[in-house]
Order: sequence, then C-alpha cells, then structure tokens
Amino acid sequence: MSNSMEETVVDTFDEQVSVGDDFGLYAADKLSTLQVNIGLICNLTCRHCHVNSSPKRKEEMHWDTMESILNLADSLDVEAIDITGGAPEMNPQFKRFVSAIRAKGINVIIRTNLTIHLEPGYEDFIEFFAQEQVQLVASLPCYLEENVDKQRGEGVYYESIDVIKKLNAVGYGVKPELPLNLVYNPGGPSLPPNQASLEDDYHRELEERFGIVFTHLNTITNVPIGRFKTDLRRDKQLDGYMDTLRGAYNQDTVEPLMCRHQVSIAWDGTLYDCDFNLALRMSTGYEASSHIDNLDPQSLLNRRIVTGPHCYACTAGSGSSCGGALV
Ligand code: SF4
Ligand code: SF4
Repeated sequence: MSNSMEETVVDTFDEQVSVGDDFGLYAADKLSTLQVNIGLICNLTCRHCHVNSSPKRKEEMHWDTMESILNLADSLDVEAIDITGGAPEMNPQFKRFVSAIRAKGINVIIRTNLTIHLEPGYEDFIEFFAQEQVQLVASLPCYLEENVDKQRGEGVYYESIDVIKKLNAVGYGVKPELPLNLVYNPGGPSLPPNQASLEDDYHRELEERFGIVFTHLNTITNVPIGRFKTDLRRDKQLDGYMDTLRGAYNQDTVEPLMCRHQVSIAWDGTLYDCDFNLALRMSTGYEASSHIDNLDPQSLLNRRIVTGPHCYACTAGSGSSCGGALV
C-alpha cells in the first residue's frame, strides 16, 4: 500500500517541477560545491539522523577516493567542498584531506556535531580549523536544552555550548573569515519557522544566557527518511506530514535547489544528487556517471536529478537545503 502511494508521488514531484514538456529536474551547467560524506561513524546517535550514524558504524572513505575527489574538484572548478559524515573529524585522513583542499585555494565547509571536540584525541582540531580557515556548520536544533537533548541525546546541549565557547575564543562566529553557522530543524512533523526571525531569537537567547555568538542560522526542514520516517510511521503521522509538505509546494524554490548546484559523494565513491538521495542509496541516474572511479565530470552538468517523494521537503514553504532556507 505504501509502495503504490510512493510511486504515484514520484511522478507527481517530477511533473510538479517540470517546465514545458520536460518531465524532470535538471542540474545547472556549473556546479559550485562537492558535498563529501567521509564516513558514517559518529560519537552521537541522534533521533533525526538521516544517515543512521552511530559509534557502531565502520564505513569510512579512504585516501585514494579523496585523491579522486581532489581531481574532480579541479575538473569542475568548484568553489567549495562540503565535508560531512557521521562525525567527519573521526576519519583518520580528515586533516590531510582538509589541508589538501585548502592548498588548492578551495573553500572547505565542515559539518561538525560540536561534541566530538570534547572527546579525547580531538583537543587540537579547533586550532586546526582556524589555521586552515575552514567554514563551520553545526547543528543546534533549539536554543533550549530540553529540545536539543530530546533529539540528540542527554547532555548534548551543554556540551555543544561549551564547544561554541571554545570556537568563539579562537574567532569563530566573531571574525568574518571564520564563520560559524548553526542549524535548526523542527522537533517534529512541521515546517521550520521564518529563518530570519528565528536567527534573531537564537542570537538574543544564546548571547544573554551564555555570552556566545555565531554567524548565521540555517533552518532545515526534516526530510521524511531514515529514523525520522520510522518514527513518523510508528506514530501514524507519515501521511499527514507528506500532505503538509506537498500542500506547501513553492515553485520559487526549484531554481536554487541544492541538487542543481552540487553533487554528493559517499564514503565508497558512489555519486548522488544530494545527501538525502545518498541516505536512500538512490545514486545519480539517467546519463550521469554514478561512481568516482568511472567518471565523466561533464556528465554531472545538466544531469537529470533522481527524485522521490522526500523531495517535497526541499520545496515546501521557504524551501530547504544544507545551507538553510532557499527563498
Ligand atoms: S551528529 Fe549528525 S551524523 Fe551524528 S548521529 Fe547526529 S545527526 Fe547523525
Ligand atoms: S531531496 Fe535531493 S534530489 Fe530531491 S529536491 Fe532535495 S536536494 Fe534535490
């Protein structure tokens, strides 16, 4: 039953974004970013994790795949490499990879869970980040303790605050060249509030309570996949949430969709249109290359994007991407 519903919606999403006679979504003719998932191990086990990371996961990217990614970045002349996981810091090649990218003059974005920097062995990573001038994106799904610990685990809120203090001390969130962006996602099956107003609330509350600062807040819509989808199904909220996402479809979000401007690469070198398709193991399709070892870089430009019902999370309301609201 749920399969037939999902198949119908796949067609509907492609039809919904189509222009003229083309039924489908296509990447732009210039990609700005490579998003790279360098491994699934993480020190946390969050409820809303769409890649099901945990301390038990073993999958990690090896150096030869990282070298192929450096070559791909040259071929496509990308502006940024966005490194995620898991906790990306836990990959043994992490620092070598970051330094190799920065040596090429390409921007590096690190998606950090903050708390890894309180674990033994990671004491010097914050200094390393500042030296390499990487940009940091960190999840803090609320400025209140209860909501953060409910999603991410007991104690995570105050640990995150401690690490933000350390980051502020070296200039993150303070100096323009060291941005620290925080990420909000709703605690349940609803759309995020307005990004600009919530950013004001975060700035005020975090500064008043703890004297900490950050650069921008990115609001992200929960994508109905992974553990979050399992929870929705268990609570009989999946159909209602899908109706909310479909009902809030906004055509203005289509041009800036992140899959149109980047490609995601998994720890094993498989290529995906985005991190969510990566989590669903829906690799790039149609005429595009689907693995880094057998690659025609030009085939990633103007490629047709592989879509599914989960795509409605990116086009609802103000839109959603790894960089926050789209419009
Ligand atoms: S910190 Fe991120 S990668 Fe780790 S479990 Fe939580 S959501 Fe997943
Ligand atoms: S889920 Fe991925 S493929 Fe679908 S619209 Fe969002 S970014 Fe594009």
